[in-house]
This record gives sequence, structure tokens and C-alpha cells, in this order.
Amino acid sequence: MIDFNVPPFVGNEIKYVEQAIKVNHKLCGDGPFTKKCRKWMEENFPVNYAFLTTSCTHALEMAALLCDVSEGDEVIMPSYTFVSTADAFVQRGARIVFVDIRPDTMNLDESLIEDAVTERTKVIVPVHYAGVACEMDTINKIAEKYDLKVVEDAAQAFGASYKGKALGTIGDFGALSFHETKNLSMGEGGALLFDNPDFHEQAEIIREKGTNRSKFFRGQIDKYTWVDYGSSYLPSDLNAAYLWGEFLAADQIQSDRLKSWELYHQGFQNLADRGLVERPVIPDYASNNAHMYYLKVRDVQTRARLLSFLKEKGILAVFHYIPLHSAPAGKKFGRFHGEDRYTTSESERLLRLPMYYGLTQEDKEYIISCVYAFFGLHM
Ligand SMILES: *Cc1c(COP(=O)(O)O)cnc(C)c1O
Repeated sequence: MIDFNVPPFVGNEIKYVEQAIKVNHKLCGDGPFTKKCRKWMEENFPVNYAFLTTSCTHALEMAALLCDVSEGDEVIMPSYTFVSTADAFVQRGARIVFVDIRPDTMNLDESLIEDAVTERTKVIVPVHYAGVACEMDTINKIAEKYDLKVVEDAAQAFGASYKGKALGTIGDFGALSFHETKNLSMGEGGALLFDNPDFHEQAEIIREKGTNRSKFFRGQIDKYTWVDYGSSYLPSDLNAAYLWGEFLAADQIQSDRLKSWELYHQGFQNLADRGLVERPVIPDYASNNAHMYYLKVRDVQTRARLLSFLKEKGILAVFHYIPLHSAPAGKKFGRFHGEDRYTTSESERLLRLPMYYGLTQEDKEYIISCVYAFFGLHM
């Protein structure tokens, strides 16, 4: 069976996990490996602050708190996304306003956002689907005009950019994920990126159970205390040690994935030329981090048949998000603004192929040939 995903593992992660246990004697949060990871991110991303968190969901929750989202505020986002994008804001009492996506990138259609803005709107949440950038200049301009915050859900976007700028560093806040299904991983984990020093102290406090413990550790105060609301958003140093091994091998992981992506993309050219499938589109302003390889087929029935055909051939391909506005909680906490022209119809046609670090050439060629076989063709 060819798995859909295998968590990334380059080999050196074990050494660092062992070091955390046997040498550092530090397993809880904000130990030496968390600090290394944080420094690595602050050096490799054009941001002042990078907080390692327990998940991207939690990074989004921190962003919602820092944006001071409260009861009745509205948050604009695509319906075609993971539940966490909405959950983090719903938790603060926000109403979610879903806007349609662009069929080419499956991202929030920037031309529809302004019409969804009301006096209750507080935040726009662009989701960089498959690591492909949203049209950020337009989104930032709307945010500026109406004094809104922009929180990028960059869960899938590690290593990708918009006009040369790293995704997750373009809005007010960016949330990365290091879940085992993402390009780099620590099992469960994420990061909150931001630039504005005004949020620094509050972010530290929220992440450390509402205490000023970080200041205490820096020797800036002589005892720490409960100063505001907060939670526990800091991951174990064991997880950070695993991630550290992957940060050091980030180029290797990314280039391996890119090779797979290119092989798929060239492999399916012929099917695309015949109009049997559509392949992902990477606009000129976006770079590709090969987070995902998907195909779109004619309709939901064709997709179901292709998925089960591949399964019979020993290949685990999967579909993706069921639009949030059609889910029970989506109906309760949100509304769809405007027409659902593409969200439902495009999501029903999309299918994701196995994509992970170390996927073999042989497996990839087999997968491509099976998709051709489904359409009664040879590669
Ligand atoms: C994976 C993902 C998340 C959640 O990430 P976690 O680290 O598992 O919390 C949120 N949004 C999107 C778009 C994702 O793909």
C-alpha cells in the first residue's frame, strides 16, 4: 500500500531528542531546543518574533486573542479550509463570514472580500491552500482601508512565498503548522509569526498561562505572577528537538518534495492537455513549496470512482475539505456572503495524491500510470 502521508524523518531527529533527555534534562517547554527553533525562525523569516506553539490551531487562537476578537465581531475567511481556521475565532465569540474561492488556486477570492466587510468586521484570514499564496497586496490594502487585521493561515505554507516574501510574514500575524502531515514536523506543533513589538509582551503572557514568566527568566523581574488571561501554548522541548533536526534538513526535505511535485506535474501534462484532469496552478506571484499535489477531475462521481480505483491498486489518495459553511457548526457560527460559485463545486472535484518526504521514484511512476490507466490510457 502506498500511504497518502508518511511523517517526515531525515534521521538526525533522534539524536536531538536523545540530547534533550540525556544531556539537557529538559523536557518541558521553552528549553534549549525551543530556543534554537525560535532563533532559527527569527533568522530565516523576515519577522521580529517567532513563537513555537503546540499547534497551528493554537497559534491561530493566540492571534485571535492578540487581535482582541470578541463577541459579535466578524471574521472573513474561505469556507474551503480546515476547521481550526474558524474555530480559533469562534472561540472568541466571532461570527464567521465565508467568502467564495478562486477556482485556480482554491484560495479566498480577493475581489470578493471588500463587499463582505461590515462595521463589525475585525479580521481577514487568508488561507494559503497547498502552500500557494493568496493575493496578499490586495488583501492588505482592504485591511488598511477598513482598519482590519490580517491573520495568515500559513499552516501549509512553510517555505513558500508571495512576491518573494515568506508566507506567514505578510499580514499582522502568521500561523505555521508542524503537524505530521505538513512539510516539516514535530508531531503536533506550530508557530506564531509577527513583527509588531506592541504585541510581544502580551503574546508571551498568553502563551505562558497568563503569567510574566518569560520576563522572569530573562531576569527583568524578580518574581513572576499572574498578569492577564492566557493558556498553555508552549510545546515540550522533546517535540522541539525533533523539529530542530528538520530545520537543519529543511532544504533537503523541500527539494525532495519539489522533485515529486514536478514529476507529477509533468507526468499529468498529457491528461491535462486532453482535458481529463486539471493540475494545480501556481500564479506568477507565488512560489511553490510542494506541500500538496492534487488533481481536479470532471465531477464528484468521477472523483469517487478514481479514489476507489486507486485504492484497489494499493494507492491511498484522498479528497479534502468539505466546505465549512455546509457543516453543522459552520451554519451555527457563520454565514456565506455572496454566491457559492466555486467553493462547493471545485472542492468536490479535487483529489490529493500521496506526497511526502522520501516518496520513491518507483511509487510515483506507478501512481501516475494508475491514473492514466483509470482513463484507459498509457503514460
Ligand atoms: C493543518 C492545518 C491547520 C491546523 O494545524 P494544526 O497544527 O494541526 O493545528 C490549520 N489550517 C490549515 C489550512 C491546515 O492545513
